[in-house]
Amino acid sequence: MAQRIVVVGAGLGGLRAAEQLRAAGFAGDVVVIGDEQHLPYTRPPLSKEGLSGDLSHETVVFRRKASVDDVTWRLGETVASADLAARTVTLADGSDVAYDGMVAATGVSARRLPLDAPLEWRHVIRTLDDATGLRAQLTAGRKVVVMGAGFIGCEVAASARLLGCSVDVVDPMPVPLLRPLGIELGSELQRRHEQQGVRFHLGRTIARIDGTAEGPSLVVLDDGTELPVDVIVEAVGSASNVSWLVGNDLDLTDGVLCDAGLRPIAPAGPIDSVVAVGDIARFPNPLFDDVPRRVEHWNIPTETAKRAARVLLSGLDSLPTDELPPFRPMPAFWSDQYDLRLQSFGLPGFGGDDIRLLEGELADEAVMGYHRDGVLVGVVMLGLTRRSAHYRDLIIAGAPPA
Ligand SMILES: Cc1cc2nc3c(=O)[nH]c(=O)nc-3n(C[C@H](O)[C@H](O)[C@H](O)COP(=O)(O)OP(=O)(O)OC[C@H]3O[C@@H](n4cnc5c(N)ncnc54)[C@H](O)[C@@H]3O)c2cc1C
Repeated sequence: MAQRIVVVGAGLGGLRAAEQLRAAGFAGDVVVIGDEQHLPYTRPPLSKEGLSGDLSHETVVFRRKASVDDVTWRLGETVASADLAARTVTLADGSDVAYDGMVAATGVSARRLPLDAPLEWRHVIRTLDDATGLRAQLTAGRKVVVMGAGFIGCEVAASARLLGCSVDVVDPMPVPLLRPLGIELGSELQRRHEQQGVRFHLGRTIARIDGTAEGPSLVVLDDGTELPVDVIVEAVGSASNVSWLVGNDLDLTDGVLCDAGLRPIAPAGPIDSVVAVGDIARFPNPLFDDVPRRVEHWNIPTETAKRAARVLLSGLDSLPTDELPPFRPMPAFWSDQYDLRLQSFGLPGFGGDDIRLLEGELADEAVMGYHRDGVLVGVVMLGLTRRSAHYRDLIIAGAPPA
């Protein structure tokens, strides 16, 4: 009988896993189970050009390779649990799906603040349905409060300004994007947003949200500041979708702890019949150090799927167990805010306080370098995208040898 591989999660990682299984020669059944109703689509436009422009499934759906035409897509179905010893997943309706191999690709959800205000008043932005719901609310003149000055919060603030909304951003940190970018670059982005009319309330938390049956009307900050509001966006980070894996003796404290082959680590060692890809995979990257990390960056689902497919097929004896080169993916990320393209390579957050301007002018186009023990481990580029290859090479040159 043909072997069956079940992919849980129909996002970028799930799609890439299906493609990579076929690319590696797997001819058995591939079943992708996803809780959204949609075929896999790209998420970055949901907070950027999609939110301020045209947004529909057609505008964001991924083009699928012919190699995955025979994949079974079970959309609108949630995996409630998994029994890795029995090799089955159980759906929310109680039915079981047996597998020979399984790919965990369930990504992350938007984190929520413990506020005493209805969730319907607080838009999050993780799915296409979230974004279309929010898009309908963002009409010119409406008052928007964004909770969280991270990448998604700043992108939503920029999109809302482009749509003519009035925008306040609240964050407990003293500078937007402080953790990923540092003070200098974060302050420069704040300046650019303020130039566009965004008001920041930094070092502040939300004390209360008032409203009526119609929706929210007032956000009150911890210093008593009152912000009249029509639309609230909660963009305060993410939580890994791993609850369905509970009970299998895995380390799920931050995503799924994996080895360098993306296999989940159990007390008896890595599990051969399962791999994790994308945002939920916490894996070591010898390009930096041996500390396993989750990296919510665009290229990671693709890179992890490529490696994981080969490792899984070797575990299932569908591929010879070749000696694979070390898995050292270079994390890459971008963000668009107004006409600014910000690009990042490496792990800026892994650097300490040693952050230096490497090229250009902060007020114009610039490259910031993030160092650890004097070695470049990450760069963030404001514009200057033509210099990407040069800086990627510099990070690789400083990395421990493969
Ligand atoms: C608004 C937004 C903007 C972004 N912008 C950028 C950017 O500019 N640059 C960048 O590098 N990255 C960006 N990202 C991050 C990037 O999109 C993610 O890193 C990428 O989508 C991760 O892919 P994934 O397959 O791991 O997870 P996802 O794409 O999240 O897919 C996981 C899928 O699994 C489903 N699922 C979860 N639990 C279950 C279950 N139990 N059963 C069945 N299905 C389940 C989820 O609903 C989802 O459909 C952005 C993300 C968002 C949300």
